[in-house]
Amino acid sequence: MKRIIVVGNGMVSHKFCLKLRTIAGSDTYEVVIYGEETWPAYDRVHLSEYFTEQSVDKLLMAPSDWYQDQNITLKTGQLIISIDPQQRTVLTHEGKTDHYDYLVLATGSRPFVPKIDGVEKRGVFVYRTIEDLDQIISYAKNIKRGAVLGGGLLGLEAAKALLDLNLDAQVIEFAPRLMPRQLDEAGSNTLKSEIESLGIEILLNKNTSKVAGTDQMAGLEFADGSQLDTEMLVISCGIISRDELAESAGLEKGARGGFKVNEYLQTNDPNIYAVGEAAAFNDMIYGLVAPGYDMAEIAANHITDQASKTFTGADMSTKLKLIGVEVGSFGDALGDTPGSIPISFEDKNSGIYKRINISSDKKHLLGGILVGDTSDYGMLLQITQNSMAIPPNPEDLILGTRGGQANGNTILDLPDTAQICSCENVSKGDLVDAIKSQNITDLKELRNCTGAGTGCGACSPMVGDIFSAQLKEMGQTVRKTLCPHFDYTRQELYSLIKVKGIKTYNELLDQYGEGDGCETCKPAVASLLASIWNDKILKQETIQDTNDRFLANIQKGGSYSVVPRVPGGEITPEKLIAIGTVAKKYDLYTKITGGQRIDMFGARLNDLPKIWRELIDAGFESGHAYGKSLRTVKSCVGSTWCRYGLHDSVSYAIEIEDRYKGIRSPHKLKGGVSGCRRECAEAQAKDFGLIATELGYNLYVCGNGGANPQHAKLLAGDIDEKTAIKYLDRFLMFYIQTAEPLNRTAVWLNKLDGGIDYLREVVVEDSLGIGEDLEKDMQALIAAYHCEWKEAINDEKMMKRFSHFANSDDYDPTQQFSSMREMKKPAGWESISK
Ligand SMILES: Cc1cc2nc3c(=O)[nH]c(=O)nc-3n(C[C@H](O)[C@H](O)[C@H](O)COP(=O)(O)OP(=O)(O)OC[C@H]3O[C@@H](n4cnc5c(N)ncnc54)[C@H](O)[C@@H]3O)c2cc1C
Ligand code: SF4
Repeated sequence: MKRIIVVGNGMVSHKFCLKLRTIAGSDTYEVVIYGEETWPAYDRVHLSEYFTEQSVDKLLMAPSDWYQDQNITLKTGQLIISIDPQQRTVLTHEGKTDHYDYLVLATGSRPFVPKIDGVEKRGVFVYRTIEDLDQIISYAKNIKRGAVLGGGLLGLEAAKALLDLNLDAQVIEFAPRLMPRQLDEAGSNTLKSEIESLGIEILLNKNTSKVAGTDQMAGLEFADGSQLDTEMLVISCGIISRDELAESAGLEKGARGGFKVNEYLQTNDPNIYAVGEAAAFNDMIYGLVAPGYDMAEIAANHITDQASKTFTGADMSTKLKLIGVEVGSFGDALGDTPGSIPISFEDKNSGIYKRINISSDKKHLLGGILVGDTSDYGMLLQITQNSMAIPPNPEDLILGTRGGQANGNTILDLPDTAQICSCENVSKGDLVDAIKSQNITDLKELRNCTGAGTGCGACSPMVGDIFSAQLKEMGQTVRKTLCPHFDYTRQELYSLIKVKGIKTYNELLDQYGEGDGCETCKPAVASLLASIWNDKILKQETIQDTNDRFLANIQKGGSYSVVPRVPGGEITPEKLIAIGTVAKKYDLYTKITGGQRIDMFGARLNDLPKIWRELIDAGFESGHAYGKSLRTVKSCVGSTWCRYGLHDSVSYAIEIEDRYKGIRSPHKLKGGVSGCRRECAEAQAKDFGLIATELGYNLYVCGNGGANPQHAKLLAGDIDEKTAIKYLDRFLMFYIQTAEPLNRTAVWLNKLDGGIDYLREVVVEDSLGIGEDLEKDMQALIAAYHCEWKEAINDEKMMKRFSHFANSDDYDPTQQFSSMREMKKPAGWESISK
């Protein structure tokens, strides 16, 4: 039996073994793996999860008995130090030799550490292995400040990790922008401002010249003479291939290192292959996992003499969520193609930047950048890669909507060869064939049988879209499950939580989910639990959005805003004075919002409980401006003062706002009440709006302003106040129970089969016979109302959260303010806030 030795046991090595066994079975080749690390292969892509979970088991690519089951000998903690290609042997660091017929080098890479004076000092780390993370975690326990050198993908991920370790974090980047290889200046600015709003400081154009200190680092010095007071440095400046075995074996290297390979991943010795980050194809080293997986499959096919495709290079497009900010970069992202025309869209308020580059003849999409909203990424990537026709107004590509359709090109228009999952090499044709030939009606089953979406996960939304579109085309109903960890729709989970009385995320995951959860299901379940039980959102500690975590909206520079409820926009002079007193005492910037209340900006984390105690003493309640819940019910002055007013719109708005305050929903909710058809409260731009008529009120639903404004639609006309409340109870509860996470009512209505007519049947005509149940459910939520801030300030455990440092009450020293029109504003944002 031929013997294969694999050197290195990283993700690509594992994939190679998996493919080899799938192709040739477990008794055709003897396989021995030598891995330098003490663990079997683990998921390096999700390494940062180790900071929160601190569990190696959860990261493992396969359980340790997998190797035994596959008849593979795994030798961990074994470094191969040389190769003898004549004898076909390898030598271990313990002096043992082993014979191979084929050798596969999957030695990966190591972090590049720039030659900076003092870089060897204690307190300087790299970020690549579980051991690195263990060291960082342990060192961080005794310090307050940490910096990351490198503003690329990994650097930003490392900075988030430092923040999670309760350190004051800075990112230092040599280039004038973040992620210089993927983003242009505007994209970098958007990302920078979003990241800085979380409290991570970004220093661009900084050439680090020295790590200060004696044995232990004590700060950084830069070439421009400036210094940074920090106690730890994590270096994330790129990678270098682990090609040190090349010399002993006489193997050629690429121009920038790495074992030089041909299209079958063979080195210049045909019995020695190299894959993953160790391989240099056309002098290129791919620092992503998908090309490595592709290489692993091709090498396994070639060794086993299977007709194989060849490696021709890989696309470096990326989509990921960086510290909660979505970032995508694809094709010719920076518009380097001669004659390319850039089209961009920027919404500074929402932190969104989109840019596409089209060809000079305006027929093709060349590439682009998405920051803040990557929902169009999958389709744009496919349009680029398959040279699909673009619409006559190409800007529609970034201004339109998603959901299986992207402006002229539906997802099923993609050619069958379009590669959807690059990790597992699954095309659109493979997915459609599997759905048709195996009668698949379940997304999880599709994932299991094709492998699509089981790698880095970036293609998951597109796999879901193809699945839905294909089933729809075949006339079948589509179940849209929440995410790979829950094989249930949001609506099904809603029912399960309610019927089974589930109160925590972990309970739900244990009983109905699998894995550890993700950024999609954690906040979605937090919102469901809050919607159903109207319980304290602060209790859902590990799964909340940042804003929910501190019951306040985080703002530029890392300070918070405070918004007390002002029902209907009516406020007494005493309360106005109370707000003024608090704002003055805590030096807060005050602004009247579009929802008719007063927002106080610039609050320090440590001050939030004190501010709220004073506001609550003055009779205020939480305004839930931070939550996915009812914001305001705006009212015009109505018949009390206005000569045109038909009814008392203010009293009615107050009644409605008090009724639904605090109720959690799939997205934020806004309402409005106008005293006549002149519509001064803009009720038709709200999720629900009432406009007074001679005979009562017209009730409008599902409107919103924002990036895609939509007028509300008439649900019922000339109804009295009591009936309107009944319909509102039913409408809101139906929305809460059936909408997908983060869908505003307008989006929900657009997706509802039958649209407003169907909604009217359900709410007004009670066609499903659930009207009473919806009213009862709403009543239960209303009865469970509590002011979250009132409870929080009386809960000692929760109050501990409101401190910037774990071991001191000091303010965050990086938060700086300057003055503007006699109030304060965040310092250092001048160029962005112009
Ligand atoms: C924090 C982090 C986040 C990342 N995020 C992403 C992402 O979002 N998307 C993405 O596509 N990629 C990401 N990557 C990159 C991705 O992890 C790598 O592309 C991938 O792991 C490369 O796999 P590999 O098997 O080639 O190398 P490695 O994972 O480096 O494995 C090589 C193994 O070989 C061992 N070895 C080396 N030399 C020897 C020897 N002589 N003898 C024995 N053993 C040896 C090494 O110790 C190592 O265990 C990330 C990387 C990190 C560190
Ligand atoms: S909507 Fe009508 S009632 Fe209300 S303020 Fe305007 S004009 Fe007056």
